[in-house]
Amino acid sequence: MIRVSTRPDLRDALANLRKNDAKLGFVPTMGFLHEGHASLIRHARHSCDRVVVSLFVNPKQFGPNEDLERYPRDAERDQELCRREGVDILWMPRTEDVYPPGFRTEIHVQGLSDPLCGQMRPGHFTGVATVVARLLGLVRPDRAYFGQKDFQQWRILAQMVEDLALPVEIVRCPIVREPDGLALSSRNTYLSPEDRARALSLSRALARAMSAYLAGERQTDRLLAMARRHLADLDVEYLELRDLDSLQAVSTLDTHAVLAVAARLGQTRLIDNAILAPDSPDTDLPRLLEGAFL
Ligand code: AMP
Repeated sequence: MIRVSTRPDLRDALANLRKNDAKLGFVPTMGFLHEGHASLIRHARHSCDRVVVSLFVNPKQFGPNEDLERYPRDAERDQELCRREGVDILWMPRTEDVYPPGFRTEIHVQGLSDPLCGQMRPGHFTGVATVVARLLGLVRPDRAYFGQKDFQQWRILAQMVEDLALPVEIVRCPIVREPDGLALSSRNTYLSPEDRARALSLSRALARAMSAYLAGERQTDRLLAMARRHLADLDVEYLELRDLDSLQAVSTLDTHAVLAVAARLGQTRLIDNAILAPDSPDTDLPRLLEGAFL
C-alpha cells in the first residue's frame, strides 16, 4: 500500500496504478474506519483491479456548531485497516490539497439536499457534493463506493454524477450493523453506555416497520406509527417515509421507499434507514425483534 498526501504524489501513484487499463475503485471516507468502511473497500476490491481510499475530514460539510474539532481520528489504526483490506493507495490530503487558495466552486443538488438531514444541517450536502466532486476530479476512478447508511448522501451524489455527466459509476453498498442492530458509525464512539443501549431503538423501529411491510402493510401512516412506538424516549429529529428517487413524502408504498430516522442521544446525532421495496437489502432487519420487548 502506498500512502500519499500531496496532489503530485497522488498523481504519480495513480499513474502507476492505471497501467494496463486497470479499473480503479474509490472509497472516500472521513477516517476512524470501521467494518462499514471495510465493507465498501471489499466491494471495491471485488469489482475493480485497484482500490484508492481517501481519508479527509471535510470542513465544508460541518456546520458552525457541529463536531468538526472533536470528530474522532486515528490515522495509525486507519492505515492498518487499509493495509489489511488490500488498499493500493491511501490518500490522506491536507486541507490545502483539497481546497487550494482561490477555490471558489460550490455544488448544490437542488431539492434532494433540502429535506431530512438537509433541513437539520443547512449547507451540509453542499459541502459533501463539493468535496466529492473535487475528490472524483483528482482521483478519476471508474467506480466510487458509498454506504446506504447515508442514503440521502448517496442519492445526491448519484444525481450530481448524472447531471454533470461525470465519467464514474456510483455504487451503493448495504448498511453494516453491530450484531444487536446498531448501524456502525464513527460517531458511535461518542455514546455513553446508557445512550449506546438506548440507540438500539433506531434499528428496532426500522425492524418493526420492515416486519409489517413484509407482512403486506402498505399504509405509510401505519408503518410510521409502528416505528414511532419504539422511539418514544428518544429525541427524534425526523422519522419519515420517502420515495427513494425523489425523496418526496409517499402516502402509499407502491415503489421504492426509504424509512429514515435521525435522533439525538445527548450530544450525539445518529441516523439510520431501511429501504422498503421488494428487492430491499434490509429484509433481515426483523430478526432484531426476536426476543426483544415489543
Ligand atoms: P464517513 O467516513 O462517515 O464519511 O463514511 C464514509 C463512507 O462509509 C460513506 O459512504 C458512508 O455511507 C459509509 N458508511 C459509514 N457507515 C457505514 C455502515 N455502517 N455501513 C455501510 N457503509 C457505511
